[in-house]
Amino acid sequence: MSARLVPILIGRDWTEPTVTSFTPVHNPCKGEVIARTPHCSALDIDLAVHVAQEAFPAWAATPAPERAKVLFSYRALLASHADELSRTIAEESGKTLAEAAGDLQRGLEVVEFACGIGHLSKGEMLPELAAGIDGTTTREPLGVCAGITPFNFPAMVPMWMYPMAIACGNCFILKPSEKVPLTANRLAELFVEAGLPEGVLNVIHGGKEVVDAICTHDGIAAVSFVGSSAVARHVYELACQHGKRVQSAGGAKNTLLVMPDALESGMAAEAVAKDPTIRAIMNSAFGCAGQRCMAGSLLMGVGDSAETLRQQVVSAMNGLVTDDTLDNPDAGMGAVIDAGARDRLFKQIAQAPDQGMEVARDGREGIPDQGFFVGPSLLDRVTPHQHIFTDELFGPVLGLMRPRTLDEAIDWTNRIPFGNAATIFTHDGGAARKFAREVECGMVGINLGVPAPMAQFSFSGWDQSFYGDLHVQGMEGILFYTRQKTVLTRWGKVGGTWFGSKT
Ligand code: NAD
Repeated sequence: MSARLVPILIGRDWTEPTVTSFTPVHNPCKGEVIARTPHCSALDIDLAVHVAQEAFPAWAATPAPERAKVLFSYRALLASHADELSRTIAEESGKTLAEAAGDLQRGLEVVEFACGIGHLSKGEMLPELAAGIDGTTTREPLGVCAGITPFNFPAMVPMWMYPMAIACGNCFILKPSEKVPLTANRLAELFVEAGLPEGVLNVIHGGKEVVDAICTHDGIAAVSFVGSSAVARHVYELACQHGKRVQSAGGAKNTLLVMPDALESGMAAEAVAKDPTIRAIMNSAFGCAGQRCMAGSLLMGVGDSAETLRQQVVSAMNGLVTDDTLDNPDAGMGAVIDAGARDRLFKQIAQAPDQGMEVARDGREGIPDQGFFVGPSLLDRVTPHQHIFTDELFGPVLGLMRPRTLDEAIDWTNRIPFGNAATIFTHDGGAARKFAREVECGMVGINLGVPAPMAQFSFSGWDQSFYGDLHVQGMEGILFYTRQKTVLTRWGKVGGTWFGSKT
């Protein structure tokens, strides 16, 4: 394999670690290897931790408004490099350029939020807590924090973590997905260019061994993880056993519930493609080729809406162009991440009839020959007893369920072991309110397909979608990357006795 080796960042130096194992990085739309990710050794991790520890005292002591100035410069650099970054994201992930720009934009909004660190990390004060005693709480950085991220959002998910941690005065070690290392490296390069002091942000690469070394390293105070649920739980347990603060976000199975009043029957194909409910469903299920933790993967047509829903969704799917996203500007959906993902999804579609499902649209057909494509697929007559009700497929394969009533739809939704997101489409305020109140998951959408919180709010998955207490982003992100210190002060004359200076 001769593709370029992806360097790591330790301190100010981009170096090629001396390693013997690699993961190939693909352009998923072409199926070609474009780089090789090194699997770092324990020594590389030790070095990254050492360098970050050295940088920590000075960075923690840097006034918050000064830290914010570096973030403001970083924000400007990200904006001026948005096209270049979007191309890198699209090239290594298979997204469309619009999806890649959205991936970056969501991350950039976290940087904008973190620019307010002076305000966000302010403490509290109560004068005269007791006679002559004032009470103050401050929020202090933790030390060296680490972030481990998945392949599906090469920019946004790393940026949920390191801008927040660094704004709070911590130093950071990022371990991006070995499948998409190029965006992460470029994001880090730009942060250094923005004036970040040496050692505050370091990037290492690798897979399970590196993750386990991070979770068990004495020099790391906190671990942020985003990825599949099995690994999220493993990281949570291992890092907790080693005394770390952990936030660990896992996989998902999100429902898109459609009430009969949200559909109009008898529409022509052109009108269907423009219908707001159908557009939202298409975007949710097939945006980023279904590889989003917020992707709607179970569609529920309540009562007699199911048949109309099936026809309209299949009609819209037939109009979605699946192709090389950088070569074909009409492509609305790109490839899945690698051959393993494609073959796994093909198998799910092939096995569906044996499990009692109908293949209403088969994504194995009508796709480009090269690359790792799966076309939009619909499996009808999914029930809560089939494995695709509980397993995350993570691709453009949507299941259609036919609950008789809203109550049954809510009951089915609450039986899903994940607790990320659920959406209802309706014109009935009572139904929407009932759904929002009764559904057991952390993010709820009403008449929108992807209820992903923006930077001001935390990304609030429940159950098998999250292990830990404080979620990424928003105020919980600030709380996660800081710890509270309480100072009680007694100055002056109290009960005839002087404390401290008499002047
Ligand atoms: P993944 O779990 O395979 O990998 C995530 C990270 O864990 C990578 O950095 C990888 O190197 C590492 N890793 C993989 N296997 C490991 C193991 N056995 N032990 C230790 N570390 C390991 O996930 P992925 O395929 O890259 O990403 C897709 C998953 O991420 C989906 O399940 C998706 O739902 C989830 N995700 C969740 C959220 C969320 O906010 N809840 C957001 C994005 C993605």
